[in-house]
Amino acid sequence: MNPRRDRSAWLHGPDARCQDPPPRFPGRRFVLLGAPGIGKGTQAALLSAAFGACHLSTGDLFRAALHGDGDRLSPAMRDALARMRRGELVPDVTVLDLVRERVECLRCRGGFLLDGFPRTVPQATALDRMLSDEELGLDAVLSYELPEEAIVARIGGRRTCPACKSVYHVELRPPRTAGRCDACGGELVLRDDDQPAAVHVRQAAHAANTAPLLDYYGRRDLLVSVDADGSPEVVFDRTLAALCARVR
Ligand code: AMP
Repeated sequence: MNPRRDRSAWLHGPDARCQDPPPRFPGRRFVLLGAPGIGKGTQAALLSAAFGACHLSTGDLFRAALHGDGDRLSPAMRDALARMRRGELVPDVTVLDLVRERVECLRCRGGFLLDGFPRTVPQATALDRMLSDEELGLDAVLSYELPEEAIVARIGGRRTCPACKSVYHVELRPPRTAGRCDACGGELVLRDDDQPAAVHVRQAAHAANTAPLLDYYGRRDLLVSVDADGSPEVVFDRTLAALCARVR
C-alpha cells in the first residue's frame, strides 16, 4: 500500500508544494462519478492507497477555503461557499478557474482520482481540453450507482474530519474512538451540506446533471459502472474487478 498523499498543491493552490516523493511508475487517471453521499470519497481513498494517485476533490477545495482565512476570500469564492452551504452547485466558471490554477495536479506523474469534478458537461469538455493540451487522457470514468433512499440514509451517518478530510460512517466505517478521527485525532463533524435540507437540493442537482455526463463519457467508451451497495471493501473489490474486466 502507498502512503496517503499530501495533496498540498491541490488543496492550497499552485504556490504550495507537495511533500510526496516523485512516483516511480506513471499513475492512473480516473474520474469518479456518483450522487453525493454514495461513497466516492471513500473509494477514492482506497484507490489512492492502491494506485498511488492523488485524490483530487473539488468539494475539498471549497471546504478548505471555508476553514481558511475568510478575509482573503475573493467575491467568487464567497458566492461559491454560500451556494455550497445551501447544497447548490457552484458556477462552472468558478470551479474551472480553481481547477485551471491547479493544472499541475492533472499533469502529475502520479496520476489522479478526480472526485466531484466534472459535474456538468461544460466542466467535462473543459477537462478534456486541459488534458489534451498536455497530451494526456483518462483511463476510465467510474460511475457509482445506488437508489436515492439508500444514499440519503448513508449521508445521515457520514462524519468528516475538517482537519485532514478523512471520512467515516457511524455504522459502516466507524472511527476507533467515537467522534474522533483515526488519522489525526480531529473532532468529526456532520458537514453543513450533509444536513437534511441541503441533501435534497444536492440530490436534485445531481439528478439533473448526471444523465448528460454519463452519456458524454459513454460515447467516449470511458464509462465503467459499479454497484455501490455494500461495505466500502466490497465496493472497492467490485471496482477493481470492473477495471480489470475493462483492460482485458
Ligand atoms: P462534494 O464534496 O463533491 O459533494 O462537493 C460539495 C459541494 O461543493 C457541492 O455540493 C457543490 O456546492 C460544490 N462543488 C464541488 N465540486 C463542484 C463542481 N465540480 N461543480 C459545481 N459545484 C461543485
